[in-house]
Amino acid sequence: MTETTKIIVAIDGHSSCGKSTLAKQLADNYDFLYVDTGAMYRCITLLIQENNISLDDSEEIDQLLFNNKIYFKKVDKRQHTYINGRDVTDLIRSPKVSDWVSEVAAVSSIRKKMVEQQRIYGTEDNIIMDGRDIGTVVFPNAGLKIFLTASPEIRAQRRYKELLEKNIQISLEDVAKNLSKRDHIDSTREDSPLKKADDAVVVDNSTLTQEEQFEMVKGLINDAFGI
Ligand code: C5P
Repeated sequence: MTETTKIIVAIDGHSSCGKSTLAKQLADNYDFLYVDTGAMYRCITLLIQENNISLDDSEEIDQLLFNNKIYFKKVDKRQHTYINGRDVTDLIRSPKVSDWVSEVAAVSSIRKKMVEQQRIYGTEDNIIMDGRDIGTVVFPNAGLKIFLTASPEIRAQRRYKELLEKNIQISLEDVAKNLSKRDHIDSTREDSPLKKADDAVVVDNSTLTQEEQFEMVKGLINDAFGI
């Protein structure tokens, strides 16, 4: 692993428990870089779907990883996700991508490449990074690790509301099914399964407002890094 003196805050947790909302708030507050690692796996999923690539075809997958550059850029204060110059910020949130992303993220060659890129971010900037394996695999030496969680019902309700606001038609039941499927695949896969790092602080936000959660984690960051 690359040695670094930068501040690294790792936020891991189940699907749709509000990791990215919290990470964005914190990154804005401290002027740190926010790295949404789920968006990276979603980009690869979109490319695999668009190019009709089988997950067993390791050569095609290697080519795809080699030929495509995924990056983030802030536009009008909102972080956008790009694949080679194409803005895919909204496209990667579609139910079609959500349905397949966990299968794609279980492929070791894909994880290896994503982790490589994620570690580079940690050498360049102070970062808040969210995902499933940040505190366990990507940055086991992160200065602060948060394991965020909330009850499955609350997570499904929140995600459903978000999708409705984006005019994406889907039932609450299907949202709940997708979350439970992703949680299952993410926690049981062989390579880098989702699990709490031994030294992570658990934050259950089921009954917290966004503001309360933000203040709580800000306190943890200030203590951890003496800010
Ligand atoms: O965070 P988000 O829900 O957008 O992530 C989408 C999917 O990407 C997750 O369900 C998981 O399968 C995968 N993922 C992962 N490791 C990460 C981040 C996301 O396996 N560090």
